[in-house]
Amino acid sequence: MRLSRYFLPTLREDPSEAETVSHKLLLRAGMIRKVASGVYNFLPLGLKALKNIENIVRQEMNRAGALEVLLPLVQPAELWLETGRWNAYGKELLRFKDRKEHDFCLGPTHEEVITDLVRRDVKSYRQLPLILYQIAPKFRDEIRPRFGLMRAREFIMKDAYSFDADYEGLDKSYQLMYETYNRIFSACGLKFKAVRAHTGAIGGDVSHEFMVLAETGEDTIAVCPKCGFAENVEIAPAISSEVYEPEPYRPIEKVYTPNVRSAKDVADYLGLPLKKITKTLIYIVEEKEPVAICVRGDHEVNEVKLEKVLGGKPFRMATEEEVLKIVGAHPGFIGPKGLKMKVIVDRSLVNFPNFVIGANKDEYHYVNANLNDTFVPDLVADVRKAVEGDLCPECGELLTFMKGIEVGHIFKLGTKYSEPMKATFLDKDGTEKPFIMGCYGIGVSRVLSATIEQNHDENGIIFPWPIAPFKVGIISFKPDFQEKAEKLYQELSERVDTLIDDRDERPGVKFKDLDLIGVPLQVIYGKSFEETGKVEIKIRRTGERVYLPEEEARTFVLSFGEKQGEESL
Ligand code: ATP
Ligand code: MG
Repeated sequence: MRLSRYFLPTLREDPSEAETVSHKLLLRAGMIRKVASGVYNFLPLGLKALKNIENIVRQEMNRAGALEVLLPLVQPAELWLETGRWNAYGKELLRFKDRKEHDFCLGPTHEEVITDLVRRDVKSYRQLPLILYQIAPKFRDEIRPRFGLMRAREFIMKDAYSFDADYEGLDKSYQLMYETYNRIFSACGLKFKAVRAHTGAIGGDVSHEFMVLAETGEDTIAVCPKCGFAENVEIAPAISSEVYEPEPYRPIEKVYTPNVRSAKDVADYLGLPLKKITKTLIYIVEEKEPVAICVRGDHEVNEVKLEKVLGGKPFRMATEEEVLKIVGAHPGFIGPKGLKMKVIVDRSLVNFPNFVIGANKDEYHYVNANLNDTFVPDLVADVRKAVEGDLCPECGELLTFMKGIEVGHIFKLGTKYSEPMKATFLDKDGTEKPFIMGCYGIGVSRVLSATIEQNHDENGIIFPWPIAPFKVGIISFKPDFQEKAEKLYQELSERVDTLIDDRDERPGVKFKDLDLIGVPLQVIYGKSFEETGKVEIKIRRTGERVYLPEEEARTFVLSFGEKQGEESL
C-alpha cells in the first residue's frame, strides 16, 4: 500500500475523549472513529487488524471442525420468550418494535437463535456432535460503554455453540474449544492465561475465561506458581496465610470518630492498622430484605460469592438514603452490634481479636469488638475477594495475582436452552432427548484493544506480527533512492503486507507515523544506504537496527515473518 493513497488520519495529540492507552492509540493511529457512545467506525487500518484476528479465529475454528454460519442481529421476541430471557435479561437487551408492532431485539448473544435453527434441522444422534460458529456484530446496551472497543455497545464477537448427544460429548466439545482458544490466542502472538470463571447471565456450571495479561486489565486473576491453579478472583476461594496471635479481649469502648469517611480515615484517626477497621455494608435482597456484610478494612466484598451465599437471590447495595433510613446512621458508621437484620461476616473475622466496628451512630465507632462476644452473626462465610498473601486452595502455595483483559469465555450449558425450547433429537435408543449444549465466545474487537494494551510504548503501538495490518514499512529519504525503494516494495508486497511512505513529508513525520501504527519492521533508505549501500532495518519491538545489502534485507524481512509466525504458534 502506498501511504499517499491510503486513508490514515493519524493524530499527534491524545484525544481528550480517551482514557486508556488502547483507546487513545486506536484513535491516534487512525484505526477507529466514534459514531455514538460505544459505537465505532473501523477505518482501513483498524479493519485490516480486525480481519487478521478474525482470520486466525476462523482458521482455528475450522481446524477444530466447527462450521461457520451467519445469524441475524435482529431477533424476534418469541424466541426470547421461550427461554424466559425476554424479561430476565436486563436493559443491555435493546428491545424495539417493527412497523407491525411486533417485538424484536438486537442480539447481545445468539443461544436462542441457534437453538431454534438446530431444533428445526437436526433430528438424529447421527448428526451429532455439531459445532456452529459465526463472526458477527453483537449489540449490548452497556450501562457504561468505555475504553473504545474494550466495552462497546456494538462490537464484533465470534460466538460458537456445540450440540452433543450426552454429557461426555459435551466434555469433549468443551475440551476441543478450550484447546482451540489456546491455539487462537497463541497464534495472535498474545500473552494470555485461561482461568476458571463465574458463569454469569449465560448460565451453566463450568466456565473458563481467557485473559490477555496487561497491567491495565479490569479483571484480577489468582494464579498458583506451583500447581497451575488459575481462577478469576470473582470465584477464587480466599484462604489466608495469616495466623492471628491470640490476645485477651479488651473491654469494648465507644469512641468519637468525627469527619471520617473511609476505613482508611478511621485507621489513621485511631492509629490502628487498616485491617483492624471492619467495614459493614448493607445490601437489599429481593428489593425487600436488608442484609449486613462485614469484612476487614483491607478486604473487599466479593459479590459473586455473596450471590451464592444468598442462594442466588437478586440483591443490590443499599443507597445512602436507605442505610440512613434503616439504621439511622450514614454508611461508614455502620456496625454489626445491635443491627436488626441478618448479619453475615467474612471468615477472616474468626479469632480476629479486638477490631473496630461502626457504632450505628454518626461519628462513632466501637473499638475492641470481638466475634461472638460483641455480637453473634447469622452466618460466617467466605465473602471476600482473595488478595496477596492468600494461599492456593489446591496445594497451599502463596498465590500470585495478575491483571487481565477477558477476551474469551467458554461455558458448559447443558440443557439450559434446549429444554425450555424443546430442542430434541432422536437418540440411539429411540428416545427423544434434549441437546447437551456448550457456548464459546471471543470478543474479536476487544482482542484488538487488548493487543494494544499489552503491546505499546510511548511512541505508539507495537503490533505482534500476526495481527499487524502492515508487517513492513519502507521509507526513503532522498528522491534518488525512491526507485530502489519502489522495487523492494513491489517484491515484498507479493509476499507480505507492505506499506511504502511515498508522501511528501519530512523523515521525522514518517518515522513517527510508522512507530505510531505499530509496523513491526521498518526498512529505511537513508544515511547508511547513501554511505555504504546497505539499507537500515529497524525492529519496532526492540529498537534494534540491522544494516544489510538490499537482497539480504529482502530475505531478512521474509524470514523474520516466518520466525514470528512459528514462535506464536
Ligand atoms: P464482560 O464481563 O466483560 O461484560 P461478558 O461476560 O458479558 O463480558 P460474554 O457474554 O461471555 O461476555 O461474551 C463473550 C466475549 O465478548 C467476552 O469474553 C468479551 O471478550 C466480549 N465482550 C463482551 N461484552 C463486550 C463489550 N461490551 N464490548 C466488547 N467486547 C465484549
Ligand atoms: Mg457483559
